[in-house]
Parts: sequence; structure tokens; C-alpha cells
Amino acid sequence: MEDWRLQGQEKYLQNAILERKRYQRYSQSWDHDHCEFCWKKFSLEVPGALQAGYATTDNVRWICDACFEDFKSRFNWTVNPSRQDGTERMEPTPVQLVRAGETPSRVVLVLEDDFGEKILSSAIAGAVWVVDSEKNRLYVEKARRLDPSRPITRFPVREGESLASACDRIIWALDEHHSEVSQNPGYRELEVIGVSLSDVSRTIFQDLNFTRVVTTKTGFLATKE
Ligand SMILES: [Zn+2]
Repeated sequence: MEDWRLQGQEKYLQNAILERKRYQRYSQSWDHDHCEFCWKKFSLEVPGALQAGYATTDNVRWICDACFEDFKSRFNWTVNPSRQDGTERMEPTPVQLVRAGETPSRVVLVLEDDFGEKILSSAIAGAVWVVDSEKNRLYVEKARRLDPSRPITRFPVREGESLASACDRIIWALDEHHSEVSQNPGYRELEVIGVSLSDVSRTIFQDLNFTRVVTTKTGFLATKE
């Protein structure tokens, strides 16, 4: 199964020369960048953001350590040796998908393009994964400003992909981020909004050890015992 983070980056990152370095802004007009693959944030100002990673020599493209490890052979990257012994050399930061104190037992997966301000509602608690759209992006940024420690992940839907198949695809990545593999204890509840139970493949719940799945007004709720 194709990794959800792969979105045609080979167009500009195949055989690229990368340097591991402390984050620096490509332009003074913005304060952060995102990992080209998983969208994790790089910033020196935003609390909890990554402060180092791999970048193209012009600092335009940034890649987090985890994605670098996952994709370095596929993309045939070269790490610029002249920078490895330089003053900016840094030890790779440990891969921590969920920071200490953030072990959400509930994860909400939103597959509605116009979910927007509802993301700020107190009913949407725990970690949130939300489909990328102009409207959602606006409110995700707002939610992050209100609470920078809140784990919110935006993901793009591929061209021609239905929300139901995006749901099937993203659940795997989401599970990897929030199960025992990445956080302790692992999450117990997955609320899906915007896709109904009949539209997703049922085997996925078995494969990911969900023990109970119920339909809700806005989608469905899957639980692990
Ligand atoms: Zn990444």
C-alpha cells in the first residue's frame, strides 16, 4: 500500500542534495515551514515545532528526520558531506511522533472539506486529523494559535480520490501515529466524521484491532478494548 505522505515529491526531490541543519527561514515573511512529506511544522518560534531537519541547500524544502529515514533510499538523497562536520552539525533529534504529555486516547478523523470552525468546538477533543481544504486550513491555524500543543494533522486528498478511500488510506497512518507503537498508552477511540461506515472497508477494523464499531450521526466511532 502506497504511503499517504507520497504526493509526487519526486518531481523536485528525486536525487536531491540535502543538508542536515538547524531550521532557518527561506524568507523573512513567514515563520515556519512544513515537512514536505508529513507536514510536521518547522519553526524556531512556534512551541513544539521541529527546530532541525534535512533541507535543500537553498532552505526551500524541509524534511523531518522520520521522513528522511523512510524515504532516503527511494529518493536517492545525498547528504552534503561538506556540511556534516561544520559548526551547524547537530545530532538527529529523536523521532517522537507524540510529545510527552500528549497521549490522546481519542483521535478524531475529519473528512469534510467545509468542517472549518467546528474544529474549535469543545466536542472535538483529543488529537485531530483533518482533510486539507482552504477553509479547514484557516481554522487549523487558528486552533494552533489558541493551543500550540494541540496535536492537529492536516492531510491532502489525492486527485480523483474519494473521501471514503482517503479515509481507508489515512486510518493506517493515523493508527501508526497513535497506537502503542508511537505513544503509551495507545489510543482507544477513533471518531470518523464525514464518511459513513458503509463506505469504508470493514476488514480495516479487524486489521487494526478495533473491537467495536458503531454508527454516529456524523460518521462512526471505532473502539479498541
Ligand atoms: Zn515528515
